[in-house]
Amino acid sequence: MTRLFLSISNLKGVGAKRQAVYAKLGIATPYDLLYYLPRDYRDYRDPVPVSETEDGIAAVVRVTITAKKRPFYARGGLQIYGLESEDEDGTPLSIRFFNNPYTYQTMKPGEVYTMYGKITVKPSGREIHVPTLLKDLNVPIEAIYPQTTGLTSAMVRTNITECLALMDEQPFETLPADLRSRYSLMPLPRAMHCIHQPENLTDVEDARRRLAFEEMLRLQLGLHLLAEKAQRETDYPMDSSTDLAPYYESLPFTLTDAQQRAIAEIVSDLCSGAPMNRLLQGDVGSGKTAVAAAACYFTAQNGCQSVLMAPTEILAGQHYQTLCGFLRPLGIRVALLTGSVKGREKKSIYAEIADGTAQVIVGTHAVFQKAVEYARLGLVITDEQHRFGVAQRAALAEKGGIPHKLVMSATPIPRTLALLMYGDLQVSILDTKPLGRLPIKTYAVSGAKMRPRVINFMKTELDKGRQAYIVCPAIEEGDSELKAVTAYAEQMREGLLAGRRVDILHGQMTPQEKDDAMARFRDHETDVLICTTVVEVGVDVPNATVMLIEDAERFGLSQLHQLRGRVGRSGYQSHCILLTEHPTDEARERLRLMSSTTDGFELAQKDLELRGPGDFFGNMQHGLPPMKLATLTDTRMLHEVQEAAAHILQTDPLLQSDAFRALYFDISRLFAQNGENGLN
Ligand code: ADP
Ligand code: MG
Repeated sequence: MTRLFLSISNLKGVGAKRQAVYAKLGIATPYDLLYYLPRDYRDYRDPVPVSETEDGIAAVVRVTITAKKRPFYARGGLQIYGLESEDEDGTPLSIRFFNNPYTYQTMKPGEVYTMYGKITVKPSGREIHVPTLLKDLNVPIEAIYPQTTGLTSAMVRTNITECLALMDEQPFETLPADLRSRYSLMPLPRAMHCIHQPENLTDVEDARRRLAFEEMLRLQLGLHLLAEKAQRETDYPMDSSTDLAPYYESLPFTLTDAQQRAIAEIVSDLCSGAPMNRLLQGDVGSGKTAVAAAACYFTAQNGCQSVLMAPTEILAGQHYQTLCGFLRPLGIRVALLTGSVKGREKKSIYAEIADGTAQVIVGTHAVFQKAVEYARLGLVITDEQHRFGVAQRAALAEKGGIPHKLVMSATPIPRTLALLMYGDLQVSILDTKPLGRLPIKTYAVSGAKMRPRVINFMKTELDKGRQAYIVCPAIEEGDSELKAVTAYAEQMREGLLAGRRVDILHGQMTPQEKDDAMARFRDHETDVLICTTVVEVGVDVPNATVMLIEDAERFGLSQLHQLRGRVGRSGYQSHCILLTEHPTDEARERLRLMSSTTDGFELAQKDLELRGPGDFFGNMQHGLPPMKLATLTDTRMLHEVQEAAAHILQTDPLLQSDAFRALYFDISRLFAQNGENGLN
C-alpha cells in the first residue's frame, strides 16, 4: 500500500505528541490529513498600504527594510529585536520581534519583504509585531487551518506538503475519469494541491467543488450500501391480517388521514419480512404518539415486545401516560423504565421484560442497559432521535434478533437534508394536524417597555383559566441556569406576576425535580412555568395557551418553532410572543418569518439557508460522516450527485468493480469511523 495510508507518524516532525493531537482530530494517515481542510487563506499577493492599516488589526504589508537596529532589553527582561522599514508610498513601519532573534537575523536592509502581522498604532508611528514573512514565493496564498491546541497552521502546512508529495508519487483517485469529465471535476491530487496550496482563489473554488461533489456522492452511495445491507430478513415477521379495529375504537378521537396513512405504511413494513427502517416525520402536535401506539399494539398482537425510547425522563413519563391511556384498556401491559427506577421495582420490571409480560416498554436510555434482557423485542421506536447517539440505538438493536425500527422526529428537516441524512430510511410524513386546532398567533415585539403589556396580556389568559410558559432570558456569561432562572422567576413573582402561581424548570434540576415541576404544571397547580429550553421537546400540556420567549433573537427558526409547538395543543386559541430587547435587522427578519408561517418545513428550509448546514448538522447526532464542504442548499450539485449515484448504482450496485474500488474503500473508511453505520 502507498505510504499515503500508513501511519501519520511516518511524516517528518510527527512524533508521539503530534500524532496524538492528530488522532484527536480523527487523522491517522497522511490521506486523512489531506482532508483536513483550511478554514481560511492569507493572500500575500494583495498587500495593504501601511497608511491604511488599522490599530489592532492584522494585515499583509510589503515593505523595504531601511535600518536594522541593535537588540535591546526592555523592562522585565524582554529582549527586543527591531527593524525600520517603509512601503512603496514611503510610509514608515517599525518591525518588532520579542525574545526570539531568528527571523530578525535573516532580514537584511535594502530587501523587500511581504509580511503578515498585527499592527499597533503608536504616537511614534505604526509597528508590526512578530510578523510572519512570505518566504516561499511559489506559495503566495497561505492556508490557515482550524485552531487546535498543540498544532499550529505552520506545522500542518509542513506536514501537508509532504502528504502532497506522497500523493504525487502515487496518485490516488476516487472518481473514475468519465465521471470526472462529465461533471467537470478536477482529479483528486490536483484538488488537494489547489485546496492546500492554491495559486489563486479560483483554484480553491474548483477544488472545493470537486471535494464537495465527492463528499455528497460518498454519502449517497454509502447510505445506499447501508440500505442494501439492511435488506436482511427480520426475525419478527408479522401477520398482515392482524386486526387494528379494537385500537381505533378505543381511541378518544378519530385518526387523521395522515395518521391512518402512516399506520398503513408501518403495518406493511412490519409484515414484509424485511426489517422496517422508517422515519415518521411530523410537526409538533401532529399526533405521532397515536401512530406509534398503533405500531405497538400491532406488534403486541403478534406476540412481540416494543420499546419506545425518549431522550428525557419528562418525555418518557409523558409517553408512558399516553400509551397507558391508549393501550391498557385493550389489555396491553405497558412498563416504564428510566434511570430513576431503582431497587426492587427495577428488578421486577427487568423480570417482566425478560419473561415477556411487559409488552410495551417506555423509557430513556435505561432501556438498553446491558442488564435488560428482552423476551422477544420486535419493534424499537425512538422519539426525537437526533438527541440519541447512533451507538445507543445500535446497542438496543443488538438486544436479540433484528427488530423493526421506527424513528420519530418533530424536527422538520428540509427535503435536501433529509435525503442525505436519511437516505437509508423510508419516510412517512404527518402533514396535517388533528382537526379543531387553531393556528397559533405569533407576535414579534421589541423593547423592554413592551414586557408589562405582554405580561398583562398573559394575565388575561390566566384569568380565563389557561396557563403560560416563559422561556427565560439568555444566560449571562458565567451565570448558571439555576441562577438565571431563579433570579428571573423571583423578579416576576415580586413584580409583574405577583399573586400568580409561578414555577421553574431548568436543566440543572434532577430528573425527579423536573418531573415534579412538570406534573404540577400539568395538574394546573401552577399557572406559569418559567423554563429554559428543557421544555423544547415533546412536553404536552394542552391547557397552556401562551408561550413567551425572552431574548428570542438567540434562537434559530427551527428551535423557535419547537418552542412554539408547546402551545396550540387544544381547541383554545394559543399565542406565541417573541420578545427582543435590542434586535438586529437580521433578527427582526427572522422573527418576522416566525410570525408569518407555522409551517415547520418552510422554517427549517429558511433556517438552513440563513445559518447553513453546519449548524443543522451540528445539533444532530446523526452518526453519519460529517459534511465539511458540501452546501446542502446547492440543489444543482445535489441533482448532479443523485444522477451520478444512480448511474453508478445501475452499472455496479455494490461498487465491486475496479473502477469504483477506491471509492468503495473511501466510503467504508468514512462510515467505519461512525459507529453503527459501518459497512461490514
Ligand atoms: P406529536 O408527538 O406529534 O407532537 P402528540 O402525539 O403528542 O403529537 O399529539 C398531540 C396531541 O394531539 C395529543 O394530546 C394527542 O392525544 C392529540 N391527538 C393525536 N391525534 C389526534 C387526532 N387524530 N384527533 C384529535 N387529537 C389528536
Ligand atoms: Mg411527541
